[in-house]
Amino acid sequence: MGNAIPVTIVGGGLAGLTLGIALRQREVPVRVHEAGHYPRHRVCGEFISGHGQATLERLGLRGMLETAGAMAARTIAFFSANRSTGPRLLPAAGICLSRSILDALLAARFRDLGGVLVEGGRDNRGFGEGVVRATGRRAGADADGMRWFPPVTGNGMSMAFESAELAVDPLVAWSTGKLSWNEARLIIARDCDAVFKSRLASARWLQKIVQMSSLQDPLVALAGRSDWVWRLAFDRTR
Ligand SMILES: Cc1cc2nc3c(=O)[nH]c(=O)nc-3n(C[C@H](O)[C@H](O)[C@H](O)COP(=O)(O)OP(=O)(O)OC[C@H]3O[C@@H](n4cnc5c(N)ncnc54)[C@H](O)[C@@H]3O)c2cc1C
Repeated sequence: MGNAIPVTIVGGGLAGLTLGIALRQREVPVRVHEAGHYPRHRVCGEFISGHGQATLERLGLRGMLETAGAMAARTIAFFSANRSTGPRLLPAAGICLSRSILDALLAARFRDLGGVLVEGGRDNRGFGEGVVRATGRRAGADADGMRWFPPVTGNGMSMAFESAELAVDPLVAWSTGKLSWNEARLIIARDCDAVFKSRLASARWLQKIVQMSSLQDPLVALAGRSDWVWRLAFDRTR
């Protein structure tokens, strides 16, 4: 696509690099600006679950993770201060890989596909035409422990992959002159809302409930007796 207009992505985490890879697969010129360097350790679990696994498959990235040593997580256990359950079988296995390896693999794949990756500099440009911000948690978010980030249900990595995939078609259409920037932006926002709205609403409720200390022992006891309730919550947040 010789005449494609370049896309600039600020933030080379999972969403930014996955988007960069998917755009390069469609031959859109892409530059990613990342504040840090690869490989780097991040505060993150290693549990990729839900629809993001299919995104990785569609983008041809899943095999790369497996070759790099990703393991399947097939069971889950619940803990409170006074109780724990034994392992329960997950409805679907998750993929587990260290974030340090995962981010570095995605960065290397992006470069192999001809993407330009600028490391080690915070980019503070705004939301102008052709600029996608994939900078993780919102600037100025409450710096109070659990409220640093959106609801904690262990699905954020999946949402990063999924949101990147949702943005690809509209950005390709913008880059090739078939959509205005505003049209592309609105389609991406609409599609992300449609996919994530109810999932995030369930996650917000779930987070409130599991943070109530008086409910933690009874919830763990319930999870030990019946798979039905936690499986419902798992499903609704994925
Ligand atoms: C303790 C903890 C455990 C978690 N465990 C899990 C789990 O097991 N499973 C799961 O699915 N999710 C988990 N998550 C959530 C997951 O880490 C996030 O949802 C995911 O990393 C979001 O990806 P992202 O690409 O949006 O943001 P990030 O991965 O945060 O990437 C954003 C990138 O943008 C860069 N950046 C920011 N500002 C700028 C700037 N101005 N210029 C240039 N670069 C910039 C940052 O350096 C960063 O590399 C966990 C989160 C935490 C905090």
